[in-house]
Amino acid sequence: MDIDRLRKEFPDETACRAFFERIIWRDGRFCPHCGGMKSWTIKGKSARAGLYECGECGQQFTVTTKTPFHATKLSLWTWLQALYFILNSSKGVSSVFLAKWIGVSQKTAWKMGHAIREMMEIREFAPALAGVVELDEKYLGGKPRFKRDNDGNVVKHKRGHGTDKQPIFVAVERHGQVRAITFDSDTVPTIKGLTERFVRPDAHLMTDQHSAYQIVGKGFAAHSYVNHGNKEYARAGVHNNTAESFNSQLERAKQGVFHWLSKDHIQRYVNEVVFRWNQRRAVEKTSKTGERKVVMETLPIIEQMGALLSTAFGRQVRRSRVGGIRPVTT
Ligand SMILES: [Zn+2]
Repeated sequence: MDIDRLRKEFPDETACRAFFERIIWRDGRFCPHCGGMKSWTIKGKSARAGLYECGECGQQFTVTTKTPFHATKLSLWTWLQALYFILNSSKGVSSVFLAKWIGVSQKTAWKMGHAIREMMEIREFAPALAGVVELDEKYLGGKPRFKRDNDGNVVKHKRGHGTDKQPIFVAVERHGQVRAITFDSDTVPTIKGLTERFVRPDAHLMTDQHSAYQIVGKGFAAHSYVNHGNKEYARAGVHNNTAESFNSQLERAKQGVFHWLSKDHIQRYVNEVVFRWNQRRAVEKTSKTGERKVVMETLPIIEQMGALLSTAFGRQVRRSRVGGIRPVTT
């Protein structure tokens, strides 16, 4: 879908607002102040469109109250366009380009990007990954741990210990979703805790030979180690190509747009790459030769926008005193 088609879908503010309301209030319109389910439209000349009054606490609200769009002076169409461009780009969009495309200042585009990324964070960590789950650690900006040299020999690079690279723990379900989070040390308790947080005990883990995984793997239905450089293993399905493919997405996003990442912001950018990865579903296809293959298909853009907006409530962002942006926790 191009931007003109999107405009046809959302021709005016009323249509944009209806979309926001349909997603954010999918279980019924609730008051963002008290949770009350009884409210009515405020009418009259001075009333803004989409303004409601709560029948329980008496306060006024709109669909953007206590969301990252709280008290926005921008049109909802401007926000929808920002969502569209950020979701549509495979590597992320810099605020300079976003500003140009949607007609706002670069400073505004930067703030919008952060507000949108705020909605990309997965906050419910019910262990959801199942089936074959590949675990890996990525040192953002570091060299790949296993790489072939010019003679085809496998070269092992040191893990990120003692470097200032930010380690990121990656758990990815083959043909499924990914979870990725920054962490401080690759000790057994840390890796065990993260794995149990994201992965169901009935999963089949695939990891490298790192000793911590040998202990962590005992808590799961099955555990195989990837033997880097051994083609037989890879043929038998023992590989972590999916995790490596995700890791290279992270790397590309970093090189493409986020040349410089402060530690505070790394998790947000990781969230963006994770969110994008998860906007795909597995589809089984049959090739001309009758071979069955599972491919990942990207969800339609409107569906992706809905997935993002569905997390909006409670994710208000506010400028902090030091000029950065921080989420509002209360
Ligand atoms: Zn209320």
